[in-house]
Amino acid sequence: METLDILIIGGGPIGLNCALEAQKNNLSYLIIEKGTIVNSLYNYPLYMRFFSTAEKLEIDGIPFISTAPKPGRQEALEYYQGITRQRNLNINLYEKVEKVSRENDLF
Ligand SMILES: Cc1cc2nc3c(=O)[nH]c(=O)nc-3n(C[C@H](O)[C@H](O)[C@H](O)COP(=O)(O)OP(=O)(O)OC[C@H]3O[C@@H](n4cnc5c(N)ncnc54)[C@H](O)[C@@H]3O)c2cc1C
Repeated sequence: METLDILIIGGGPIGLNCALEAQKNNLSYLIIEKGTIVNSLYNYPLYMRFFSTAEKLEIDGIPFISTAPKPGRQEALEYYQGITRQRNLNINLYEKVEKVSRENDLF
């Protein structure tokens, strides 16, 4: 059985950021995501615009270039999906975590 330092449940912006931190600290990790990358954002209304500026939506200091001060859904999808690809993050898509249980020191 493979053991990991960190299991990240959910490949939203926070899960991706956790994975980037794990990578930087040489920790083994896997993201398990029940849908696609940044699934919540994917399910936003098509022409939805964030209330946050692009800068506030950045993760790991990676510049988020947007054509407008407040980015739209499509730009955000491209930003987070691009990071996942470029940084080669370990992510299993379309897998849902149904239960987490503990066995001695392992979850
Ligand atoms: C219309 C709208 C506009 C918004 N605008 C802004 C904004 O301008 N600025 C802002 O900061 N925030 C905004 N938000 C909130 C925004 O969605 C969150 O800030 C952001 O998505 C949080 O990221 P997260 O990674 O914590 O959670 P999420 O993006 O929700 O990611 C959680 C992930 O976990 C996955 N998941 C859940 N359960 C499981 C499971 N059991 N197994 C596997 N995977 C699972 C989900 O599919 C999802 O991809 C907005 C939200 C909405 C709905």
